[in-house]
Amino acid sequence: MHQMTLAEIARGLADKKFSSEELTKVLLARITQLDPQLNSFISLTEALALEQAKAADARRANGESGALLGAPIAHKDLFCTQGIRTSCGSKMLDNFKAPYDATVVAKLAAAGAVTLGKTNMDEFAMGSANESSWYGAVKNPWNLEHVPGGSSGGSAAAVAARLLPAATATDTGGSIRQPAAFTNLTGLKPTYGRVSRWGMIAYASSLDQGGPLARTAEDCAILLQGMAGFDQNDSTSIDEPVPDYSASLGDSLQGLRIGVPKEYFSAGLDPRIAELIQNSIKELQKLGAVIKEISLPNMQHAIPAYYVIAPAEASSNLSRFDGVRFGHRCENPENLIDLYKRSRGEGFGPEVQRRIMVGAYALSAGYYDAYYLKAQKIRRLVKNDFMAAFNEVDIILGPTTPNPAWKLGAKNSDPVAAYLEDVYTITANLAGLPGLSMPAGFVDGLPVGVQLLAPYFQEGRLLNVAHQYQLNTDWHTRTPTGF
Ligand code: GLN
Repeated sequence: MHQMTLAEIARGLADKKFSSEELTKVLLARITQLDPQLNSFISLTEALALEQAKAADARRANGESGALLGAPIAHKDLFCTQGIRTSCGSKMLDNFKAPYDATVVAKLAAAGAVTLGKTNMDEFAMGSANESSWYGAVKNPWNLEHVPGGSSGGSAAAVAARLLPAATATDTGGSIRQPAAFTNLTGLKPTYGRVSRWGMIAYASSLDQGGPLARTAEDCAILLQGMAGFDQNDSTSIDEPVPDYSASLGDSLQGLRIGVPKEYFSAGLDPRIAELIQNSIKELQKLGAVIKEISLPNMQHAIPAYYVIAPAEASSNLSRFDGVRFGHRCENPENLIDLYKRSRGEGFGPEVQRRIMVGAYALSAGYYDAYYLKAQKIRRLVKNDFMAAFNEVDIILGPTTPNPAWKLGAKNSDPVAAYLEDVYTITANLAGLPGLSMPAGFVDGLPVGVQLLAPYFQEGRLLNVAHQYQLNTDWHTRTPTGF
């Protein structure tokens, strides 16, 4: 039962082959049995799951239908869930029970999805290895000595290990696509503004975007359908109709123009990954796509710009965690300053503290123009590169990451080494564009992802290209040994 995709579950539930309650019990038991090896969950919500599953079964019995009605999922632990711990992977929020549901959580619940739990993540979504979580590192089911990627590493590891078919995640600089690549999943970062950020604990507000992590593009379409849409509670949410993503999965790739940026294949890219990307290009050519070399000349400036903008926004967003209103408060503060200092010093881990320091510095008087403003100008150049490229091509294709998943602890002493691994993903966040990662093969038994980028609001195009590719390849069907 645990091998089923969301689409297969939807068919099984519609055909009354099993009930949502039966499936939910099977998956909860599987999580209890297998997750101690992975640490992919921070909280299990068994009682809520069973209640939602029974309600979904009752709705079906009353004639209701829907791809998510009775479908088991989990939420990254930065989506607020009413009355349930919403930790953001931090000691700071270990005692925080959200007073309301995030829009994404409420929408999926209304569609009948069943919440099995809250997944582990890098603290405040800062990281690419899921090692900065206060709840401990998450392990990659493909090799338990390796990281699953981050910051949505818990969602990725759980779905890859077949503990559940799909999960929500968020992507500020790659945190949906990179863990998807590291664990052999399909993950989609939507256009900025497509999915509401209301109730999604902020890391860097101008870059954060929620999206689906699943095994197939078909399943990402189903989950995105339930997440996307205008929300008047989010001032950056965009009031555009949500297309039927599953309906866009049948389009031919004949004549599709795929741009391959020459900058993507420079030094730093593992040559074995480069070869797998070339194979995926050949596969898409067989399906009728036309390949064109393009250039994204400002790509080299993206990492430094991102690692100014994201910490700057983070330092501002995280100022609300002051020991007064939310989360951790130190014992016996002597005065207000002592309360702030010790609550924040004890509540935030080292990576979060580093980013707050960097961000506060970059925004400080006298340095603002030199760092923050400069970074914003680079951001515009990165966006302009994409706009020029999309005048010539329909999709941009390349590797999701320069290397496969590294060993746990391998980059802990050198944060910049980890930042450099984000080179292919962060440009989409700087520009606000949608991006998808899908399985493209293995290197030393570790999964490799190919990334597709599209113009604004062309999520359907990304999902269709990935779906056509998945109809003709079987990388996405591989299951990690032991799961
Ligand atoms: N690795 C990037 C960072 O640490 C991206 C994280 C994310 O997308 N949340 O900022």
